[in-house]
Amino acid sequence: PPTWMRSEMTTQHAGEVRQGIGVSPGTAYGPVVQVAPPVQPPQDEPAPADAEQAAADVARAFADVAAALDAKAEHVVDTAQAILKATAMMARDKSLLKAAQAGVRAGVGPATAVSAAVEEFVVKFEALGGYFAERVADLRDVGSRAVAAVLGVPAPGVPDFTVPSIVVAEDLAPAETATLDRALVAGIVTRAGGRTSHTAILAAQMGIPAVVQLPGATQLPPGTFIAVDGDTGEVVVAPDPALVAEQQARRERRAAALAGSSGPGRTKDGLEIALLANIGGVEDAVLAGAQDLEGVGLFRTEFVFLSAETAPTVAEQTEVYRRVFEPFGGRRIVVRTLDAGADKPLRFADLGPEENPALGRRGLRLSAERPELLDAQLEALAAAARQTGADVRVMAPMVATVEEAAWFARRVYENGLPRAGVMIEVPAAALRASHVLGAVDFGSLGTNDLAQYTMAADRMQGELADLLDPWQPAVLDMIAAAADGGRTAGKPLGVCGESAGDPLLALVLVGLGVSSLSMAPGKVPAVRVALTHHTQLDCQRLAAAARDAATAVEARDAVRASAAPELLAIL
Ligand code: PEP
Ligand code: MG
Repeated sequence: PPTWMRSEMTTQHAGEVRQGIGVSPGTAYGPVVQVAPPVQPPQDEPAPADAEQAAADVARAFADVAAALDAKAEHVVDTAQAILKATAMMARDKSLLKAAQAGVRAGVGPATAVSAAVEEFVVKFEALGGYFAERVADLRDVGSRAVAAVLGVPAPGVPDFTVPSIVVAEDLAPAETATLDRALVAGIVTRAGGRTSHTAILAAQMGIPAVVQLPGATQLPPGTFIAVDGDTGEVVVAPDPALVAEQQARRERRAAALAGSSGPGRTKDGLEIALLANIGGVEDAVLAGAQDLEGVGLFRTEFVFLSAETAPTVAEQTEVYRRVFEPFGGRRIVVRTLDAGADKPLRFADLGPEENPALGRRGLRLSAERPELLDAQLEALAAAARQTGADVRVMAPMVATVEEAAWFARRVYENGLPRAGVMIEVPAAALRASHVLGAVDFGSLGTNDLAQYTMAADRMQGELADLLDPWQPAVLDMIAAAADGGRTAGKPLGVCGESAGDPLLALVLVGLGVSSLSMAPGKVPAVRVALTHHTQLDCQRLAAAARDAATAVEARDAVRASAAPELLAIL
């Protein structure tokens, strides 16, 4: 049923099955670790009995918060470490502590005094603007942690745990997801979130099975064992051992089938469809580079700089790109220039608040206003390409018009890079693809944003998951229009949105005429198997069946009903 018809369940029964949306494939089994929500001070906290004691308690709370953040920083990688250390410094700020202590000495309860002091600083930071205004979320995080410390309740955020577990939360911020330890997080489950939220994308990227939109997720008691299926979206509470064993057996069956497939992507009759990886940084590149795939179809460069305070220099960028390119040898690497703004804000590429950021100056529009950022990036990409001899192709996000495409291509060539492309993720570009692609060398369909803009449904809004379904007939029509345009222009068109990693939808995309599919690396084997069991004509028939359907559900069902049984057996 659509999200709005599902009832919110709050009680748990052993073996109870709940339905969410699977966004990162694979199954997981383990104890629940609940991510604690932000802590607020009690409504009418009494005045402290002993003001000096309370002032000392407040000092200890801030010191504990700083120490905990520093300790956490020891266990994470570069970018996450920098964020945590900077936040720890805020917790050590003398004037913040003084303001909170002045509160308790004036008779305010300690948690309330901490919270009020933090809000006072929030106002000051916001008035200062720029760098300071961007620290507000971190400052509030420090405040919430200090309030928790004063009250003696668990700190907000992901708690520390030592055995492989399922991390359960209302939702996870991209930075929170990025700092999770792959070795300890067996699975991720959220109550909110959507198919193309960046939490979902990061989870798939990290190869962690994940389910979003799970009713009652935050009420699952910590320590309860749950079984998570990142393909079907099913979560079973306290599953009986037979189910755990069954899931294990299915994991093995699927793994065996997938392990039996290798090499370049091609249909049963030999049509070549390049199978590529979506990556977001050096760690992803090393993992994907070691896999049997044909290169990178989308390097989301903004993910590298999510926590950067200032624009990275050309030298810094060159070093990162060199490390990203190296694992791929001579394989192709499609790099997307910074897609900053809206759901992926960057501190150094922020043009200020906007009423509708998703419709604002994001992606290439931001590059047009800050061309020095684009030029520095292109210069670094060209340098890294020269150093490694990598086959680098550069594309722009959020292109809507021919002029934008031509402007971008010129800058790419001027920087000595041989190939320029565009994301087709705005309906305008999809409808006019023959002209837009005529101005560049290749295109790549960003079906996440294309669905968002076609359906007028915010991809960050988990409640709209049904509208954001890439099987929506209108989205399929939009993709078909873009594919027709690509054919007319004689330019290759791939797909790098999440839809490319769905084995059934991948067949439809091939039937519509795309020539490459780029996805989280863990999704490649199943898509390769799907291709080997269908001819190009099969794919065209499946695409026609999908487009004949009246609804997204009917489109998927129609394709499922006609797909090869060898594929259905492993889904
Ligand atoms: C897309 O929009 O489909 C896409 C691939 O880009 P992103 O998800 O990073 O916006
Ligand atoms: Mg996009």
